[in-house]
Amino acid sequence: MADKRDYYEVLGVDKGADASTIKKAYYKLAKQYHPDANPGDKVAEEKFKEANEAYEVLSDSDKRAKYDQFGHAAFDPSMGGGDGGFGGFGGFGGGFGDFGDLGDILGGMFGGAFGGSSRRRNGPMQGEDIGIGVTITFEEAAFGVKKDVSYSRICKCGECNGAGGSGVETCSTCHGTGQVRRVQRMGGMSFQSTVACDACRGSGKTIQNPCSKCRGSGMTRENKKLTVSIPAGIDHGERIALRSQGNDGRNGGPSGDLIITVSVKRHNIFERDGYTLYCEVPLTVAEATLGAEIDVPTLEGTVKYDIPEGTQAGSRFTLRGKGIPYVNGNGKRGDLVFSVTVEIPKGLTEKQKSAMRAFADSCGESNYAKHKQFFKKIFGQK
Ligand SMILES: [Zn+2]
Ligand SMILES: [Zn+2]
Repeated sequence: MADKRDYYEVLGVDKGADASTIKKAYYKLAKQYHPDANPGDKVAEEKFKEANEAYEVLSDSDKRAKYDQFGHAAFDPSMGGGDGGFGGFGGFGGGFGDFGDLGDILGGMFGGAFGGSSRRRNGPMQGEDIGIGVTITFEEAAFGVKKDVSYSRICKCGECNGAGGSGVETCSTCHGTGQVRRVQRMGGMSFQSTVACDACRGSGKTIQNPCSKCRGSGMTRENKKLTVSIPAGIDHGERIALRSQGNDGRNGGPSGDLIITVSVKRHNIFERDGYTLYCEVPLTVAEATLGAEIDVPTLEGTVKYDIPEGTQAGSRFTLRGKGIPYVNGNGKRGDLVFSVTVEIPKGLTEKQKSAMRAFADSCGESNYAKHKQFFKKIFGQK
């Protein structure tokens, strides 16, 4: 604290200076040392901070009175007295929390205070992203599809080209920043926050002849229709971002994105895990026992497959490259894995039953290896 310069000295004003003199002196310094005007210059940055700090105190009559009485000690937290320090610099919801904001806000101030500045009155703001959902079939997800979507977005008003009307002037209350600083006191501490300017409702501008279409906001809403290409291989819950199709930005800021979340309907035969397709094929007892050429479903019709003799329920077979195409995979595809169940016949006639009994009688232990081993485990090797 000892080497801190006197605030009046920092601003180059004398102790009796009135508010407007202090303000003018501050604006002059802030403009001179603004980071935008002195990129990478550490000395300028320090001077800029110093000027802000001084102005923070001298522009506030309470703080100024304390400063006049106690000097820097009035704001030194280690001295136990005073004001809780420079709350505003600590960023209690304030626009002064970081340098980026500071640049914007002050840039706006100069626009108002010095008229001739080419800086925008209110900083560019990026438009919001818009999220929508689209539902497609299982096959559409596998092979890709074009879908028409429609949604509502905030866009620059076409009537006034975003200006909001004619006779647009910088708000004199907030000097075009759209924000004013408010100091709140709580339990002997003062907190500084930045709130939207009432006079211009945060726009930073006043408009003599507001545009009838957008009522001066410069922004309207439109219904937009787009055809979206959904790539082959997309999965349930995945998202597609369409750059710059969200809400338009304000004051020249970039537009947000359109984020499309894809829902994929369930298939009545297939399930999918990544790029692998799964299904279950029921076999008859005879097919499983004797082996058979069966029809296996794929997403592109059925294919023939030879099931070997003695196939057990739950066995799995793989059809290479018959699964889901990889997204942007240049034709690469996953596999189709099918498992089999064996359906036990019901409702047999007496004739069928006796044929089955005759068959069973003809079977020996060698025909049923698992059956034999299982009962050996239960009854032990007697
Ligand atoms: Zn308009
Ligand atoms: Zn204002």
